[in-house]
Amino acid sequence: MHMTQSYVIIGDGIAGSSAAETLREEAPESDITVITDEGEALYNRILIKEFAKGKLPEAPISIHEEDWYAEREIDLALNTHVTEIDPDAHTIHTHESDTYEYDKLLVATGGTPTQLPVDNSDADGIHHFWTFQDARNIAEHAERADTGAVVGAGLLGIDLAAICGAQDIDANYFMRGNRWWRYALSEEGAEIIHDGLREKGVTPVFDSGVDAFVTDDDGKVTATVTPDGEEHDSDFVGVAIGLDFNVEVLQGTGVETDDGVVVDEYMQTNVDDIYAAGDLTRFYDTILNDHGQNGSWGSAKEQGQVAAKNMVADGESEAFRWVSSYSITHFDFPFLSFGHPTLGDNHIERKYSDTEWRRLALKDGKIIGGVLIGDLAPQSAFKQLVREERDVSGQTDVLLEEEVDLEELEAPQKEQ
Ligand SMILES: Cc1cc2nc3c(=O)[nH]c(=O)nc-3n(C[C@H](O)[C@H](O)[C@H](O)COP(=O)(O)OP(=O)(O)OC[C@H]3O[C@@H](n4cnc5c(N)ncnc54)[C@H](O)[C@@H]3O)c2cc1C
Repeated sequence: MHMTQSYVIIGDGIAGSSAAETLREEAPESDITVITDEGEALYNRILIKEFAKGKLPEAPISIHEEDWYAEREIDLALNTHVTEIDPDAHTIHTHESDTYEYDKLLVATGGTPTQLPVDNSDADGIHHFWTFQDARNIAEHAERADTGAVVGAGLLGIDLAAICGAQDIDANYFMRGNRWWRYALSEEGAEIIHDGLREKGVTPVFDSGVDAFVTDDDGKVTATVTPDGEEHDSDFVGVAIGLDFNVEVLQGTGVETDDGVVVDEYMQTNVDDIYAAGDLTRFYDTILNDHGQNGSWGSAKEQGQVAAKNMVADGESEAFRWVSSYSITHFDFPFLSFGHPTLGDNHIERKYSDTEWRRLALKDGKIIGGVLIGDLAPQSAFKQLVREERDVSGQTDVLLEEEVDLEELEAPQKEQ
């Protein structure tokens, strides 16, 4: 091993950036390089929707100025796309044919929004939403658009719908099935969200989708065609049907991928000295006791830190163990999903009022995730139960009481 370790990180999102920060703390003498193909250093991806809504200026969204890296003697390469990794030579190559050597490499390249496989899906005025630059384009267009269409009934689609609402665009929100985020919400819970959307001037359209887009002579989108052949005026379109993980850089490396990069709980891939962290991982979840995925800010940050500690230790020093949460603040009522709300073999739920509802996902009698609408107070109790892997079978009534008192739960069974 060399005296000075070289750490290279691909991606300056929250996973890559938090890894760089941890590496510097844990290995003060090491060489650290962060490479990103974006033109700006880490910013708060969670807040770019507020900018696109027209509710927040640019400044508070930026997290790190370039000075932040210089002060920590971290080399930052902006506008640099990594094209190839050579695991035998321990080198990576960039689009400008630069080569970097690494002792340990972290791949934290996140994902790219999936395009709709329909005619004209790349027309002017059709937006995907991932970067700050996307948010600037969306804000600029949304301010002058009148009619809109949004596709993708998940956590990112609803941001685009809320942007239409905030920017006074008269929009349809086309969804497959009969409700928003049908994998995590029942009809009763989703109805609260649908009412919230309608109040913002966004119309949910169920059992629908998009078959094509109509464009004018300048190639600008003018209408959205639904499967029933109807044309709906839309000079602004938002598409959020999923993420394609940025794994092409791993081609030929032997790193195992399976709709994401497969890592263990230490963020190690199957190839020596290559780690991965953030949205793109299919990580071993020590709570689920299975591989899982998680697209959320807090989880990506934690994975970056855990990866960095294990890279410095050159071993399995810290395992990733985390209950994620993801909140939505577009409506008059709060919304929070935590853990793995779309998984599980049993689900329990209750509605408390027109804007209060709760659903818990259980696996083998243990809570693994859930969705809270209206009242988020029980979140810490539920997260504690997830972390403790507590068997709560048969105790639905206590879990669904408006105020959750963990002391009312039966004591955990002692191992024999
Ligand atoms: C609009 C929006 C709203 C969101 N809201 C929430 C929320 O409310 N709560 C929440 O928890 N999460 C939210 N998320 C999700 C959250 O932002 C992500 O989970 C998190 O940012 C993932 O971080 P990451 O570092 O894994 O990946 P990313 O942030 O995607 O970073 C990866 C970086 O790698 C770069 N890159 C990719 N390939 C290469 C390459 N070959 N060479 C060089 N660079 C490369 C990319 O350009 C990118 O900068 C939201 C996301 C979006 C887009």
